[in-house]
Amino acid sequence: MTQVAWDAWVEVPTETAAKLGLRRGDLVKLTSPHGSIELPAYPYELIHPGSVAVQMGQGHRFPGAYATGARPADATNPKPATFLNVGASPVELLGGAADPASGGLPYLAVKVALARTGGRRPLAVPQATFDQDDRGVAEYVSLAAAKELELRGRVPEQASHPSMYPPVRYPEYRWGMSVDVDLCTGCSACVVACQSENNVPVVGREQVAYGRAQQWLRIERWQEGTATRPLNMFLAMFCQHCEVAPCEPVCPVYAAYHTKEGLNAQVYNRCVGTRYCGNNCPYHVRRFNWWNYQWVTPLDVQLNPDVTVRQLGVMEKCTMCLQRIVAAKALARDAGRQVKDGDMQTACQQTCPTRAITFGNLKDGAAQVSKLSRSPRSYHVLEELGTRPAVTYLKKVTRGAEPAGKEKGHKA
Ligand code: SF4
Repeated sequence: MTQVAWDAWVEVPTETAAKLGLRRGDLVKLTSPHGSIELPAYPYELIHPGSVAVQMGQGHRFPGAYATGARPADATNPKPATFLNVGASPVELLGGAADPASGGLPYLAVKVALARTGGRRPLAVPQATFDQDDRGVAEYVSLAAAKELELRGRVPEQASHPSMYPPVRYPEYRWGMSVDVDLCTGCSACVVACQSENNVPVVGREQVAYGRAQQWLRIERWQEGTATRPLNMFLAMFCQHCEVAPCEPVCPVYAAYHTKEGLNAQVYNRCVGTRYCGNNCPYHVRRFNWWNYQWVTPLDVQLNPDVTVRQLGVMEKCTMCLQRIVAAKALARDAGRQVKDGDMQTACQQTCPTRAITFGNLKDGAAQVSKLSRSPRSYHVLEELGTRPAVTYLKKVTRGAEPAGKEKGHKA
């Protein structure tokens, strides 16, 4: 909801923040009858006036090389990195027993006093705004309108924009995905799955704050409606594998190119790091390696041997788990047939608990991904650019009344 990375924070209602003169990142001291903690403030319009909220999970004190501070030196790691135990734990504010002052809820709520300390700790928040500014990144449709569209059998207008490029032919496969915005809960399990499958480094707080997050897949939150009746939409954003890909013609060494199977591929050995492709990508899904990231022992054993570990100066991004596609094609070839639904899943698809992500061959009309791409709810993000993405999104369905008119922005 907040998109804060690598930290703990206290959510303060905007009215209270205005009264105390608090900006995002100003340190505040929370004091309860049981203890006190200090955290940076996150003024937030979606929290009830008169309450503040701190999430659990940071500032823990149990033993462990990473939780307590430094991992000891050994032969493989003579200069140990220090992994800071970030934030503070709200458990220190809670009494063990049920607190009558907070409705008798143990470990859930307690009365606290809030005081500004005068210090600051800016928060790393990679998403600058939750307002789409009418760009239609995450779209929604009412249940009644969705039923109407279904009845009329509306065919999406996607990919109908004229292009000066000739149509691309795909001899065997055109790989594609669909993401159902109505099913996505924003849990971010897919992000972790992708990071783990594809040897994506953990870059740390400073790099995230600097806009250099490395994940190939991110969950965006977009907010419509009013503060009292908001509509939140979660959108998994990754390389759209555009048919008319803006990243490809600007690469001076042809490192970004289009495969016969509709994938927007990246040749790491050819990339010279000009970053033209990243600058020309309207979806901002290409990631540049600013460092040679290290997987200190024992984290190196988590690396997937089927995926290259990238190095300093190389651009990377989602490959639709190309290594899994190659393995599925080899098995299908041995069985004397084409890859079909169920032969493989991408890491994000496999991990999604709500089945919001579907992968498959768009050339196979019977494949689930093809059916979903023809759904009346389907749309392409930034469709008007004519990039013809291989990723189709399905609009969120609002049950009940439409969200009321937009408030004036939810900018950071
Ligand atoms: S795992 Fe599924 S539900 Fe969770 S954020 Fe990803 S797409 Fe959404």
